Amino acid sequence: MKIFAKNIFWAIITLIVISALFSLLIQPGKTPRLITLNELAEKINAGEASKIVVNENDLEIELKNGEKALSKKESDMGLSDTLRNFGVEPLALRQVALEIKEASGLKFWVGVLVPALLPLLIIGFIFWIMFRQARSGMNQAFTFGRANVKVFAPFKNRVTFEDVAGLKEAKQELLEVIDFLKNPKKYLEIGARIPRGILLLGLPGTGKTLIARAVAGESNVPFFHMSASEFVEMFVGVGASRARDLFSIAKKNAPCIVFIDEIDAVGRERGAGLGGGHDEREQTLNQILVEMDGFERDTNVIVLAATNRPDILDPALLRPGRFDRRVILDLPDINDREAILRIHCRGKLLGKNLDLKQVAIRTPGFSGADLANLTNEAAISAARQNKHFISQEDLFSSIEKVILGPERRGRAISQKEKELIAYHEAGHALVAAGLKDTDPIQKVSIISRGLVGGYTLKLPIEERRIKTKSQFLAELAVLFGGYASESIVLKDISTGAASDLKQATDLAKSLVTRYGMSEKLEPRTFGETEEMIFLGREITTGKDYSEELAAKIDKEVSVLISRALKAAKRIISSQKKALEALAKTLLQKESIEQEEFQRIIKDFKIKPLKA
Ligand code: ADP
Ligand code: MG
Ligand code: ZN
Repeated sequence: MKIFAKNIFWAIITLIVISALFSLLIQPGKTPRLITLNELAEKINAGEASKIVVNENDLEIELKNGEKALSKKESDMGLSDTLRNFGVEPLALRQVALEIKEASGLKFWVGVLVPALLPLLIIGFIFWIMFRQARSGMNQAFTFGRANVKVFAPFKNRVTFEDVAGLKEAKQELLEVIDFLKNPKKYLEIGARIPRGILLLGLPGTGKTLIARAVAGESNVPFFHMSASEFVEMFVGVGASRARDLFSIAKKNAPCIVFIDEIDAVGRERGAGLGGGHDEREQTLNQILVEMDGFERDTNVIVLAATNRPDILDPALLRPGRFDRRVILDLPDINDREAILRIHCRGKLLGKNLDLKQVAIRTPGFSGADLANLTNEAAISAARQNKHFISQEDLFSSIEKVILGPERRGRAISQKEKELIAYHEAGHALVAAGLKDTDPIQKVSIISRGLVGGYTLKLPIEERRIKTKSQFLAELAVLFGGYASESIVLKDISTGAASDLKQATDLAKSLVTRYGMSEKLEPRTFGETEEMIFLGREITTGKDYSEELAAKIDKEVSVLISRALKAAKRIISSQKKALEALAKTLLQKESIEQEEFQRIIKDFKIKPLKA
């Protein structure tokens, strides 16, 4: 309907333009006066007319005084006859020069044909536009099943392995693939089977898409990129046909690399779908598998796929001959973090003596994407303060911003509430200081950020992949630090501890049901977990234990919790003075950094105990 209205609009515009041109063509210059035949007859009799030009039925009259006039005669009568009928004296007429013009060819055609053809032309024009639009729509319908593949242009925004920090093993593995593609002969002659599929596994933001693009930049072979979600459309069968299309393009361009990003969008375990829609995904997945199976031994097409949910992938995808190689992209360690920061500081104006190592130390658990975000936040905050370069401070404050959200100094907080937050956070920090197996405190703050009123940041001394029971128990006690402090000092409990309690409960449950860390129960797992397809989250679905055991589990969870709470309360009540000192400083300065925290604590000679 909109298109139709648009067409009408254009047709009208065209009409106006044409008629304007037309009128210009017909009547050039200024128009002389129009007179009746009676007047003309009178003028001739009075001897005022000098010349009459007859052009068909139009009369152009020149008067002796130089004026011009126009008139018309009857069409089927000659001029002299007409004038005679109006009573012009033959003698007077003879004084006037008469000129008869042939109708000009052009004028005739314009005058006759254009008015006749114009509507036809306009109608034709409208039809032409409509057809054109209909045809492009039709083309869209026909290309619907085509893959919307993007070919990486290697020279525009080229990404190479230089732009990817760390990830050494992944790079190693992928270099091998690139070599396969460049010198397939070498591998084929020795009898090796060229790998077909490589799965890039890693948490979000660990650089899967980035490294795939770097492979494109490094290899000199065509690189076809498609996101798995692009396979699946509203219509059934489109996904499968797009997969077919993608692979047929790839085979024509072999040797080449096909990259399917976020493959979990189609590669979820089949048969697990709830409701409609999963059929389409299954068909797409089947088609991808069929295509990969159809590769000959010497088909030089390598399929890269990325996902952050390997746990939910269909086992059929992982079979030999399909995605049988896996490249794992870990979260960066401290050196990699520094390298990633360095890469993202390229092209930014940095202050002198910037120590990126310190930033790397303070960002355990950050992914590459988090670090990229951090440097950008630092640049933004420096620019907002009209500084000309990024300082260490900007980087440090961006860490908290990335973890917890932006500062919310504007929020009105009463003095009472501030005190409460100060004692709460001081409680967490003090308990952490009073226990063994805890990470050192890096910063305590009562500035609200994002959703939290205050926060206590701990700093892991070293990278840790596994945690021990004593670390968990200490962590549990620290979580109760805020609660314990509130209840002992303020003799009241606030809602501020709610999220601590939730975290502590979840942690205690995991210790009992997943890690076998309770004392009474056997070391086994309790409960079955399953994937919730639409939420992409794990939920506990089945109980694989008896009611009796359930009661025991609950008992063990409360044992852990009350033990942790007791430890926290013991430290708080035995170190009330230290708590006072911390809270006072917090109220005064709002934040305490690591060194100052150590200084305050030192005076109280706290001896860390086991939780
Ligand atoms: P995902 O694994 O979710 O696909 P991306 O590849 O999209 O993650 O990474 C997001 C961004 O994070 C990248 O564009 C890049 O700026 C940054 N990044 C992630 N890992 C690295 C790394 N190893 N080196 C440099 N930058 C990285
Ligand atoms: Mg990605
Ligand atoms: Zn808390």
